[in-house]
Amino acid sequence: MTQMNRRIVLASRPQTAVSPDNFRLEQTPLATLGDGQFRVRNHYLSIDPYMRGRMNDAKSYAEPLAIGDVMIGATVGEVVESKHPSFVVGDKVTGMFGWQDYDTSDGVGVRKVDDALVPLTAYLGVAGMPGVTAWYGLNKIIAPQSGQTIVVSAASGAVGSVVGQLAKLAGCRAVGIAGGEQKCRYVVEELGFDACVDYKAGNLYPALKAATPDGVDGYFENVGGESFDATLSRMNPFGRIALCGMIAGYDGQPVPLKQPSIILTMRLLVQGFIVTEHLDVWPEALGALTRLVAQKKLKFRECVADGLERAPEALIGLLHGQNFGKQLVKIA
Ligand code: NDP
Repeated sequence: MTQMNRRIVLASRPQTAVSPDNFRLEQTPLATLGDGQFRVRNHYLSIDPYMRGRMNDAKSYAEPLAIGDVMIGATVGEVVESKHPSFVVGDKVTGMFGWQDYDTSDGVGVRKVDDALVPLTAYLGVAGMPGVTAWYGLNKIIAPQSGQTIVVSAASGAVGSVVGQLAKLAGCRAVGIAGGEQKCRYVVEELGFDACVDYKAGNLYPALKAATPDGVDGYFENVGGESFDATLSRMNPFGRIALCGMIAGYDGQPVPLKQPSIILTMRLLVQGFIVTEHLDVWPEALGALTRLVAQKKLKFRECVADGLERAPEALIGLLHGQNFGKQLVKIA
């Protein structure tokens, strides 16, 4: 009997917020493997904010998905069939295998991973792309010095949680901004940040001021909007801002900056970056992050939706801040 593959494709483009009818679940027969190919059974899918951008037909740093394309996504899985000299059945791998049960690969862009070192799912978060994003923005743009104050928004999330923990390991004061008392408590009590401000409590600026008595030397921006405004007002002269994400505006709503003149008066460096454009640092960053996780010096939390069919709901939840930690989907 022909084996089938379930996959989720882009059915239509969202005009504002993503909705379930932007996706379609399909079944297609698995093709026979060619020489030099192997088949991966996906175990976990990573759900990431960048997926929202790929659903638009707009100019950006990456090509949009076409209608009918399998939704893009990183997965961890296992080689289940191989005609490739370097990949054997049983190898654990991570790659851009998409929102589907199986994918076929020639090995390009695929990394073998060792789940004896850290759990398989960590390769999609803290020891994967989000971890490298945190490592790059913090070390290469903010370049923290011991004793400085570093602020990060979306602090309980996949990227933000790593930023603050790395800042602490560098001897800094780490201050998070997160949505809700529960997330803030986790950021301080579990992740070891010095403070975390709940922007949903309605007193962001005064609370941030109290949490940053010496001002802010480095800001890792994941959200945009009011956290950007509040932190900008606390920046010290010659502070550095790593502009990583502006999730508050991903559905098309504007995220204006109220006082851009502070960039001038405080002589700030503001640098946007895309982590996949810095592949040269990935081996160093992944090595460092994996070691820190294995040594239990870097903690992480996951939020797992069960079943491929729940991937759309998981992405919609992430885009509304409903995830608590790295958002994953368990496929099999
Ligand atoms: P997270 O795990 O942090 O999840 C997203 C979080 O954003 C939510 O949980 C929510 O946390 C927060 N958030 C704040 N405001 C909003 C809002 N208006 N709408 C929705 N969510 C909001 O995601 P990641 O760690 O994967 O990504 C964090 C940021 O980093 C994103 O902006 C992403 O695009 C960016 N990124 C950039 C990369 C690059 O190369 N430049 C690479 C990878 C990620 P809370 O409840 O605390 O508000």
